Parts: sequence; C-alpha cells; structure tokens
Amino acid sequence: MVSVTRSQTGKTPKKPAHPGFVETPPVRISRRSKSVARTPSPEASVKIEPTEEKMVESGLKERKPAATNGNTKVTNGKPKNTDHRVDNSGEFEFGGSLGTGFVMVFFPILMWYLWVGQVYYDAQLPLPKTGQPISEFLESLYSMARESAMPTLKTWTIYWGFLAYQSVLYITLPGVWTKGNPIAHRNNLRLDYYCNAVWSFYTTLATMAILHVTGIFPITTLIDEFGSLMSVGIFSGIGVSFIAYFSAIARGAQHKLTGSFVYDFFMGAELHPRIFGIMDLKMFFEVRLPWFILFLTTSAAAVKQYETYGYLTPQLAFFVLAHWLYANACCKGEELIVTTFDMSHEKWGYMLIFWNMAGVPMTYCHGVIYLSRQAPEVYQWSLGANIFVFTLLLTAYYIFDTCNSQKNRFRQMEKGTLIARKSFPQLPWQTLKNPTYIKCKNGGTLLTSGWYGLARKVHYTADFCQMSSWGLICGFNSPIPWFLPCFFITMILHRAWRDTERCAKKYGEDWEEYKRQVPYLFIPYVF
Ligand code: NDP
Repeated sequence: MVSVTRSQTGKTPKKPAHPGFVETPPVRISRRSKSVARTPSPEASVKIEPTEEKMVESGLKERKPAATNGNTKVTNGKPKNTDHRVDNSGEFEFGGSLGTGFVMVFFPILMWYLWVGQVYYDAQLPLPKTGQPISEFLESLYSMARESAMPTLKTWTIYWGFLAYQSVLYITLPGVWTKGNPIAHRNNLRLDYYCNAVWSFYTTLATMAILHVTGIFPITTLIDEFGSLMSVGIFSGIGVSFIAYFSAIARGAQHKLTGSFVYDFFMGAELHPRIFGIMDLKMFFEVRLPWFILFLTTSAAAVKQYETYGYLTPQLAFFVLAHWLYANACCKGEELIVTTFDMSHEKWGYMLIFWNMAGVPMTYCHGVIYLSRQAPEVYQWSLGANIFVFTLLLTAYYIFDTCNSQKNRFRQMEKGTLIARKSFPQLPWQTLKNPTYIKCKNGGTLLTSGWYGLARKVHYTADFCQMSSWGLICGFNSPIPWFLPCFFITMILHRAWRDTERCAKKYGEDWEEYKRQVPYLFIPYVF
C-alpha cells in the first residue's frame, strides 16, 4: 500500500496506478485544522491517505480482485447478457413483483397501525369491537391516524432540516478516507469513501444539547410530535425512492434492471449514487439517518421522562444505552461498512431508502414509545430481571461488535486498507492476529478463525439477542415492543438464507469446505 501521507509531504500523494480510469483533479476544501483533497467525481480514484490515522500493515498479502464479473452470466450452459444495466438472469428475490409490491404497500400501513395502537388502544393491537363492521373499523383507524400523525409544516421542516444539517456535517467535518470493493463493470475501479460519522454524531448531539438548553428547539418535540414526524419519514422515503429511481434512469446510471418496474423500483436502479462529489448516498442514508434519529428520539423520551417525573427509569436508561451502542457502533466502524454487501451490491432503491428514512428510525423505537407513554409503575421489574436484560444486551453487543469487526477488518487487511482508529470503544478481540482462512479458487478468501470460525452467522444471533433485549426490557404487557424482535428474526433469517445462496454461488466448493470446517450456522456447538 502507498503509505505516504499528505501530512508527511505537504502535497497530495501520488495516485496509485489503477488501469482504466481518468483522473479528475482533486478539489481543495479547507477546514479549520487541515485541508483535505476531495474527489469531485466518483470516477476519480485519487489515493488520499488519512492524515491523522495510521495505515496498518496487515501482514496479509494484497491479492488481485476476484475475476468474477456480473456482466457475463451463464444460465443453462448459455452465456447471457454482457450489459451490466440489464439483468436477464430471470432471478427475483423477495417474491418478485408481487412480494416487493406487497411489502411497499403493507409496511407504511403497518407503521400507522402500530402507532394508532400505542396512542388509542393503550399499546394493544387495534382490533374491531365485537360486531363492528370491518369497513367502520378501518374508517376509525384512518381517522385516528389522521388525527395523530398528520404531517405539518413544522415536522417537515424538522425532518428535512435535520437531513440538510447532516449533509453539511458530512462535507465539512474531519474524517478518514477508505476504498470500496472493486467495481467489475467499471474496470475494477475502487471508489474513495469519506467517513466522518463519528464527528457528525457527536456534533449532532452537542448541537441538540445547545438547542434544548437555550430553548430554541426542545428535544422533547421529537417525542411529542412523533406521529407527525413518522408520517413525514414515510412520505419522504417514498418520495426519495421515486426521485432516486427516475433520476438514475434519466442519467443512464441504472444497473441490473429486470424490466419489471415494481421489482426494480423496490431493489433500486443505481448502484453507487453520489452527490457533491464525495457524498455517497448509500453510506449517508445507512449509517447516519436511521441511527441518529433513533438515538435522538430515545434521548427525547428520556429527557421528557426526567422533566415529568424527576427521575429516569432503568428501562428508559436501558434504551439510551442500547441505542447509543448501536448508533455509535455504526459510526465508529463506518469505514468497515464500505466493503459490505449492502455497499457493494445492493442498489439504492425503496428497500434501502424507505428502510433508512422511516423503517428503522420509526419502528425500532416502539419500545421507547411504549415506555414514554406509560406510567413508570406499569413496567417495574425486579433488580434481578433488570440486571439480566442489561447483561444480555452488553454480551450480545460485544459479540455483534467484535464479530463484524473481525470479518470486516480481515477484508480490509487483505486489501491493505485497514485504518487503525481510536474511536470509542475499542474492544478486545476486534482484530484477529494471524487469522486462518481458506484460499478460494475464485481468488477470494473465507475466514475460519475468530467468531467466523465458531459459527458462520453468529453476529446475526448476537444482533437478534440485542433486539430481543429491547423487547424484554418492556415486559409482556404490550405486544407492540415485541414487533421488532419478531420482525428482526424474520428479516435476519431471510438475509442469512439470501447471503448463503450468494456465497455458495460465489465460492462454489470452497464454500462447502468452509461449511465442513465451520459446521454451525447461528450458535457455536449447537446449531
Ligand atoms: P455479513 O457481515 O455476514 O456479510 C456477509 C458477507 O460476508 C458475505 O456475503 C461474504 O461477502 C462475507 N463473508 C461471509 N462469510 C465469510 C467468511 N467466513 N470470511 C470472510 N468473509 C465472509 O452480514 P451482513 O452484511 O448481512 O450484516 C452485517 C451486520 O449488520 C450483522 O451483524 C447484521 O446483524 C447487521 N444488520 C442489522 C440490520 C438492522 O436492521 N439492525 C439489518 C441488516 C444487517 P464477500 O465474500 O463478498 O466479502
């Protein structure tokens, strides 16, 4: 790896040789403490080394990218399709147009339904009264949703003001650079990614604290106006999905479209959408929006409870810790997300956009909404029960964090792009020393030590345990906080199956060998 940094030379380091790209001159953007060369175009592949963070020598040899190329598929022995913009494999995920169409209509309705349950049905699921005609029941649900979740100018301004502020933070605050996976249909180009979510997160929290203390914007507004903000999130998610889809088509930036509008709209048209040169929209939407909004909503509920009762219940304190851990984890490991499946292969469509703008921030918080709307005496558990749930959360978080970190750092090490960061908390066993791995015939590798050597998807189990602790802390009086664990297990099982299929195809018999060496899927030595 190139290890000369701007701070060492005072000049923009030389670009490493990559075949097949045209250099775009870097733009200098000055900051208070330092200036950084920015890539004005995603096509630009100028190597920019971090100035304050040291590149780590991996000890693993840099290998060439796998020779797989999505452009040429072989189906039934016949080569097909050399245009990356078209997907004529005939393969559809999520039940094709029918399944994806259903999800797109059903999910927003489910969000309003759960909210109405929280507000009007004392956190129970709304059901028709005995003998009530279904049409009358639906009409009453509709009018309750209208009454409690109507978007207002104020909530549109809050939501989009927040997005605008996050964009400003993205392009102005200090951060580190890293590189994405090679993009086969762009001559194995590796895009530069700018990662400053840690700075953005803590700057956002400081800004929020100032706005609250000065009375300019009390944070409790986020919980008081949750219904309206949720509807803004839903409509914004749908609207941005349309803009993303049609703008990609208009610019000819589409990738692997099947020709089925509903399905393509759900999966997305563009693979690497970018604006302002450095702003990668998938990273921006996945790392910041959902988790920042979730943590702010939880903080709002905590402040409100403190203002109302003069104390914070252990249950709400639990959520502050849990949501901080998750949001902070996404920020502190942001540069590791760059090479994941979502960033490399998932397109920017309704699935990612809606999910990040509304789905995650406005459904993952139902436990918090429940606690904030109920009197504390409704949910008081024994000290032992509270300790158990806190321990479950922290243990699950440890496995989730270190497992993701081990694999993602292994991937970065083999590319020679691992950055040593001090972002808090750095946990023991986050980085594997001298890991064992299978050297695959397609040029790739499969890790066989650390957590990935104990079970192939143990981080999914850990993540599920975290989500279950978010339900457990609310007890069993209401089913609504349990929506998330139920949804999550369905989603993660499907994701495990989907990823296993993908890996089986990608690694062939080496995947079989991996399964032989690591026979457990979710729980080491059990399953
Ligand atoms: P993984 O991090 O497991 O990524 C899967 C990819 O990792 C595979 O496609 C393969 O990609 C690579 N891989 C698999 N096995 C190995 C191995 N043995 N050695 C090296 N690489 C391997 O899963 P996800 O990206 O789905 O999830 C990451 C985290 O995000 C998880 O903890 C998950 O729970 C969480 N998550 C949370 C969600 C939420 O809503 N809260 C939603 C989705 C995920 P390749 O070979 O191409 O590198």
